[in-house]
Amino acid sequence: MPDCDYCDASFADEDAYLSHVGSEHADELGRIDRRRAAEHGSLEDDDPPAPIMAYLFVALVAFFMVAMVAYVIVVGV
Ligand SMILES: [Zn+2]
Repeated sequence: MPDCDYCDASFADEDAYLSHVGSEHADELGRIDRRRAAEHGSLEDDDPPAPIMAYLFVALVAFFMVAMVAYVIVVGV
């Protein structure tokens, strides 16, 4: 049963604890706790994860543009 290092609260499980430190003690977390809370997803001001879908979309658009140019060149429209 984890206890909060930053206040007197105690929690039934790790999940509840990480949610608590992420929302209540985000500014005072140590490095390790900060990372754990971030991994748990309860830290709101953490760097957002890499926008993989955005990269994928850009890559897809670039691919289609190249394909279209190649098509125009090959077919000669
Ligand atoms: Zn606390």
